[in-house]
Amino acid sequence: MSVTDWVRPEIRELNAYHVPDPGDMVKLDAMENPYRWPAEMLHEWQSLLTGVTVNRYPDPAAGQLTDRLRACMQVPADQQVILGNGSDEIIQIIAMTLAASGRRVLSLEPGFVMYRMIATFTGMDYVGVPLRSDDFGIDRDATLAAIEEHQPAVVFVAYPNNPTGNLFDVGVVEEIIEASPGLVVIDEAYHAFAQTSFMDRLGEFPNLVVMRTVSKLGLAGLRLGLLAGPKTWLAEFNKVRLPYNINVLTQASADFALSRMDVLDEQTAKIRATRTELHDALVSMGHFQVFPSAANFFLFRCPEGKAVPVFEALKARGVLIKNLSPVGGLLTDCLRVTVGTAEENSAFVGALDAAVREVMG
Ligand SMILES: *Cc1c(COP(=O)(O)O)cnc(C)c1O
Repeated sequence: MSVTDWVRPEIRELNAYHVPDPGDMVKLDAMENPYRWPAEMLHEWQSLLTGVTVNRYPDPAAGQLTDRLRACMQVPADQQVILGNGSDEIIQIIAMTLAASGRRVLSLEPGFVMYRMIATFTGMDYVGVPLRSDDFGIDRDATLAAIEEHQPAVVFVAYPNNPTGNLFDVGVVEEIIEASPGLVVIDEAYHAFAQTSFMDRLGEFPNLVVMRTVSKLGLAGLRLGLLAGPKTWLAEFNKVRLPYNINVLTQASADFALSRMDVLDEQTAKIRATRTELHDALVSMGHFQVFPSAANFFLFRCPEGKAVPVFEALKARGVLIKNLSPVGGLLTDCLRVTVGTAEENSAFVGALDAAVREVMG
């Protein structure tokens, strides 16, 4: 008996998802909200947690938290909701429900890597349709042709897209929904920064569902995502969801945090304001092609061959961002930086300035 006889070849070929240890670097690699809670809110949270019964299983339906999320995220009253341990788990639930030999997952590239990974985990085929090379918009004709050819069980569209940051043309997304024979998931992980949504379009199309997460909003450590959509789909997904997937600490903490939405809203408004400053600083350096962003990060392209040395020079100066150049294709020479606090952004811009002088002479 050998491991290689049993582990599926497509799993053996993968590398485990790697997250670099940030140590005490300025951490601008993972689209986290950089702000903590006010002291008074932290104290209130701590005393609330004292009453949480960790010896009991959680509420399997997470009823109170679900009601809170429905209100905060303006889910239409006639639509259903299920929760996931992060929206990553929701992607997995959808794929497990729809997977069968020869069935396909379709998405746009460059895009969010978990769509492809989870398609592989669940034994589905993955089709990545390239975005336009000049502005990362959807190549309408190529995408509609790929849907026609591959008849995907599910199409994932991140709106705004990660790692490019842009919002897609709403009319083209509507055409994708209408042309798709299966489910279309609009992944609105960056809704707090884009402030535009398909949530109020639920019910208009029988195959449309909308996914959200609290991660980018400021609660990444809690692992909580939600899927909203028609009962016909969600009742099936709910059968595949593991019974106690949202733990008691997450249920209590997220419900508490979302009861203070004013604090989270103030933080995300600050991030949107510093986003503009960071954009202008990056553009004025004159070395980079900076792509417009409706999210809390920027993708920028370095002169040919300079992304890796710039990334390393930033790291040497204590600033961690994301190097996307190794992905290749349209991401060759590209780096991605998360919008941090004003202080973190200045630390990044200062380090980048020094890195540019070192690397580009
Ligand atoms: C970050 C991100 C997610 C994952 O969110 P979690 O809820 O933290 O699992 C999903 N989709 C996109 C496009 C993201 O960038």
